[in-house]
This record gives sequence, C-alpha cells and structure tokens, in this order.
Amino acid sequence: QKLLEVYDLHASVDGKNILNGLNLSVAPGETHVIMGPNGAGKSTLGNVILGNPEYHVDSGSITFNGADITHEPTDARARRGIFLSFQSPEEVPGVTLEDFLRVSKSAVTGKPLKVFAFQKELKKTMEALNMDASYARRDLNVGFSGGEKKKAEILQMLMLQPKLAILDETDSGLDVDAVRIVSEGIRRYKNKDNALLIITHNAKILENLTVDYAHVLVDGRIVRTGGSELVDEIENEGFRHMEEGVAE
Ligand code: ADP
Ligand code: MG
Ligand code: MG
Repeated sequence: QKLLEVYDLHASVDGKNILNGLNLSVAPGETHVIMGPNGAGKSTLGNVILGNPEYHVDSGSITFNGADITHEPTDARARRGIFLSFQSPEEVPGVTLEDFLRVSKSAVTGKPLKVFAFQKELKKTMEALNMDASYARRDLNVGFSGGEKKKAEILQMLMLQPKLAILDETDSGLDVDAVRIVSEGIRRYKNKDNALLIITHNAKILENLTVDYAHVLVDGRIVRTGGSELVDEIENEGFRHMEEGVAE
C-alpha cells in the first residue's frame, strides 16, 4: 500500500490556479525529490499536502495511508504523521524551542509526554545536530541564523518521527557545514517504514541519501520523473529544456 497518493490535484491560492493536475505516489521507505523552477508550485504542493487553509483544493484528491485527507484540517494530518518543514520558519517570541517541541510532540501523539524520556531524547538529538543545549531554552527561532532555524526544523522532525516528512528547501541559505549536519539529520530520520519528500535546488543535501525518485515540477504539474540521475541532469542542464516539452 502507498503512503501518499496525490491524484489529479488542482489547487489555487488567492484565486490563482497553481497546481494543474498533479499526480504523485509515495510508498513507505521511499525518498522522493522535487525540483523545479521558482514559482512552479513546489511549496504550494507541500502546503496542500499538509492542509494549509490558505491553499484551496479545486479538484483531485490526497490519500494518506488509505484515508482520504483532501479536506482534513492540518492538525489531523499532523496526527496521522505528516510533517512539513517550511521554506521560511517563523519566529515565535515567548515560546522556547523545548516548549514548542514538547507541545507539538504531545499534540501529534495525543498522549501526555514522559518528561524525563523526552528531555533525554532532546539532549541526544541536539548533540547529534551539533546544537548547543542552550538553544532549547531560547525563544523559537528568535535571533536564530538561517542555518540554526533549519537545524531547529530537523530537530523537530527527529523528535516527532513523522511517517512522511516534507522538507521544503531545508538547505537554502546554509553553509557547507550546516548542509552536512542537516543532511546527516535527514539520514538519521530515514528508516524503511517512513518516507521523505525533499524539495530542493541543491544536490549536496542529497549526497548521503538514497534517492528513489526525482520529479520535475513545472507550471503546477510533474513533467518528468526519473531516478537520481535526473538530479544530476538538472544540475548540469537546468530546467529550460523541460519547460519547452511540457506535453505528457
Ligand atoms: P515554488 O515553491 O515552486 O517556488 P510556490 O508554490 O511558492 O512556488 O508558488 C507558486 C505560485 O503561487 C507563485 O506564483 C506564488 O507567487 C504563488 N503563491 C504561493 N503562495 C502564495 C500565497 N500564500 N499567496 C499568494 N500567492 C501565492
Ligand atoms: Mg518554494
Ligand atoms: Mg506556476
């Protein structure tokens, strides 16, 4: 059985049509990469899968673990095990990183948290990401550098252990060392049961990962699907030649 099935999805934002018949199918254990020019609809896809209310599904469906979630609220999708890291994480004054992780973890599991086990896990995971322990007590993302914000998101993913993690340009604005740590964190998350959907422009972040499928998204549709060799092709040739031949 598939974990995620996006079928003939049409979606709009602000009355503007963005996704135009997008199909995508992800099985447990798989890593998919989505590439595409700016404005193609990549972030829209992530937002629609998580059910961001700013994005409107006009037709088509999204199925997760066999359940139709097309019109389900975001919190219900998160409880099912869908996670989205944002392209630009928000700053949340007054809520520490640790508070935030604790609240999101118990919201997602629906169970009260085992505080000691949580703190132990948090400490271990922060060490693995080369994050100073003091960050746990700082306000979420406030004054964090771009790289630190991305690390905080990878930390959240590792703590929540979602079944499907969608990473939207988690690598943008990171220096080489931070890319390596983030990509290590992603590798640490990945197992044979969960799945990854990585939206990226940067092949570097994929170096330690096994990419099962790469997709090219242009004008709200997937115009090409291939294996990891497609990532190299795009690195070398860009998207131009694909935009011309959008016919299916
Ligand atoms: P990508 O991530 O591939 O660069 P996006 O999905 O972010 O593309 O954007 C696709 C199109 O939708 C763009 O034209 C963008 O301006 C528009 N768009 C995306 N999100 C919003 C929003 N919240 N409000 C208005 N327009 C949006
Ligand atoms: Mg985007
Ligand atoms: Mg477009």
